[in-house]
Amino acid sequence: MDIQKLTIKSAKRALESKEFSCVDLVSAVFERIREHDGNVKAFLTLCESEAMREAEQVDAKISRNESLRVLEGIPIAVKDVIATKGVRTTAASKILEQYIPPYDATIVRKLKDAGAIIIGKTNCDEFAHGASTENSAFGPSHNPWDLSRSPGGSSGGSAAALSAGFCIAALGTDTGGSTRQPGGWCNLYGLRPTYGRISRYGLISMTSSTDTPGIFAKTAEDTALLLSVLAGQDKMDATTLPAKMDDYASHLERSLKGIKIGLPKEFFEHTEDPESAEVISQAIAKLEELGAQIKHVSLPHTKYGVSVYYIITPSEVSSNLGRFDGIRYGHRSQDASNLFETYTKTRGQNFGSESKRRIMLGTYALSSGYYDAYYKKAQKVRTVITKEVEKVLNDVDLLITPVSPHVAIKLGEKNDDPLAMYLEDIYMSTAALSGVPGLSIPAGFAHNMPVGLQIMGKQLDEASVLSVAHQYEKATDWTEKFPLL
Ligand code: GLN
Repeated sequence: MDIQKLTIKSAKRALESKEFSCVDLVSAVFERIREHDGNVKAFLTLCESEAMREAEQVDAKISRNESLRVLEGIPIAVKDVIATKGVRTTAASKILEQYIPPYDATIVRKLKDAGAIIIGKTNCDEFAHGASTENSAFGPSHNPWDLSRSPGGSSGGSAAALSAGFCIAALGTDTGGSTRQPGGWCNLYGLRPTYGRISRYGLISMTSSTDTPGIFAKTAEDTALLLSVLAGQDKMDATTLPAKMDDYASHLERSLKGIKIGLPKEFFEHTEDPESAEVISQAIAKLEELGAQIKHVSLPHTKYGVSVYYIITPSEVSSNLGRFDGIRYGHRSQDASNLFETYTKTRGQNFGSESKRRIMLGTYALSSGYYDAYYKKAQKVRTVITKEVEKVLNDVDLLITPVSPHVAIKLGEKNDDPLAMYLEDIYMSTAALSGVPGLSIPAGFAHNMPVGLQIMGKQLDEASVLSVAHQYEKATDWTEKFPLL
């Protein structure tokens, strides 16, 4: 069996037809991890014995000819900012190095209810702050396409694990690009759903007003399947939407004929890498060939997206990370002699520099005297951006943009320049701030590295986003390419 090539659909079929057993599949996954994760560094924690036990139960079910649940026996990796009951969940931070949640995030519970086998917790930037995994307290992950490069971030460990063949699908989170950008850099589908479509209960909060769970998969079909499993209103998250659920898979065969696709000119103006830009042009030409109508549109406030995001994010981060004080949560500093020192030493010793930077910037932006000038103003511009996106999406069905101005960066290339790292989110902040769904899809290669195309849709219209992705996938062969480790 070639795990890199297995999709949820093909693995499920193989299990059901007894082509291989679930124990074979899960053993092969851990063998591959043992062989290659020393170089890729996708995982922070593995759940091997539990996973093997579950695989045996799946095999027992198969031998009794019982039918399998939708994800039964499918090995899935989970980003380490997502709470897993009884399994260490660190947020890639020293402050939570020993934290074992007493409960499952809603999305983890849903995976388990669907029969998935969780094989481990993946590396990411500390508290998901970053775009390369280099802010992890436990060292960066490496891109399986070129180990000297970043797999993207913050959910880089999940993307690296899936592309390396250490699992068949993976969960990430997307606050400002963290599923879409690593998806683009690793030749995977990376879905950020509409804000509120999937429950955030059990995610370690970063920017509560833009955080969403994210899905990594190898095909549009697998992405649709996972979305159907994970989406829906949740009484544990008051921001989840009551909207009725789509049967996403049933829309995949919709033709592109007559679909109106907008190209927002602001996303195509600064071509940093002509080779990547050429890949994107060819992908757009292919969509046109498949029947889509291409329209040129404008989102003039795009240029403020990164600035607005980097006021709102640190502000919410400064508030959300307040609970990690050694008393309520977090590894308590042992050399404090009073309460004040317990706070300062716990936080001083255990947060990494990017988390500290965000706490300080956010505290400043929220402080009296500056609140109106920074936070309130950023919220106003956010509203303008949201309205602008809604308006353009009244004229077209979908928007298409690049995922990133270039292919995956080299590890170390930008990490000591926080502003350069923030600018990595240039094409990501629009969907994050406005709450619309965004999907990165494999669109080709430049410099022998994957290039992703982003499809953004109307609120709750993941079905159209996924159908365009699926039609494009059928007309190309990018998803059949895998990195040789
Ligand atoms: N790169 C962005 C940041 O550092 C997005 C991170 C994310 O989506 N978690 O904030």
